[in-house]
Amino acid sequence: MNEAMRFPLLWVGFGCALGGIAGSFANVCIYRVPRGKSIVLPRSRCPWCHGAIVWYQNIPVISYLVLGGKCAHCQHPISVRYAVVELLMAGLVGVVFARAGGGGSGVVLGVTLTFVLMVISVIDLDWKIIPDVLSLGLFWTALVVSPLNSFLGPSGYDRVLSSGLGAAAGFGSAWLMAEGGRRVFRREALGGGDVKLLAGVGALMGGRGVLTTWFLASIFGTLVFAALKSRRKMNWGAYLPFGPFLAAGAWAHWVWPAFFFRWWGF
Ligand SMILES: [Zn+2]
Repeated sequence: MNEAMRFPLLWVGFGCALGGIAGSFANVCIYRVPRGKSIVLPRSRCPWCHGAIVWYQNIPVISYLVLGGKCAHCQHPISVRYAVVELLMAGLVGVVFARAGGGGSGVVLGVTLTFVLMVISVIDLDWKIIPDVLSLGLFWTALVVSPLNSFLGPSGYDRVLSSGLGAAAGFGSAWLMAEGGRRVFRREALGGGDVKLLAGVGALMGGRGVLTTWFLASIFGTLVFAALKSRRKMNWGAYLPFGPFLAAGAWAHWVWPAFFFRWWGF
């Protein structure tokens, strides 16, 4: 039994705190990546009065609550979405820590995956695109670190092979869906960004991860589509971004792999 498991609450609490900080950085990326701006500089400023946001005004979730959802300088209201992303990240990374239970690469890759999937989801909702730097960034990172990725198998050789096959399965299945959608429905059912994201998911989690991601994304997507349709918030022809559903499916597979392994029976 290692130190982390002897203090599970401390371990998960640390995960939540780290998740909140990651969520704060996710907000920066969500705003700046699609606009082609640097994610490092300049420091965060209020978009209305350009007042600098100092560190104690930038504590995830807490600062939002203390400042009452307003800029400390000009009192302009700040979207609650920033706090929601931070809170979600705190919870999701807390779950990643709880599930990983002291594993080294598992936690590092899990937090990275959660971060990338969150940024992709919100950008896809906002802009209906998935930037290459995120989807291909996930793909190349997963491929390069695959020998160290214990998720993919027992030995280095198994892992590299599983990563390559998973990437091919993700890319191939998504490309077929995209091409099929274009020919049958004569419109873009699945975007190029989704294809690259699935290649990345496959490289990180192998073929079974691709299977779970498709399966859950289809269910989540259908449920949300039906709910929006029943409230007449959407026309049948309207485009619903698929990225957030793929992200949710992929994340679930990362956190509960044994559960889905039993399903797929291999
Ligand atoms: Zn301001």
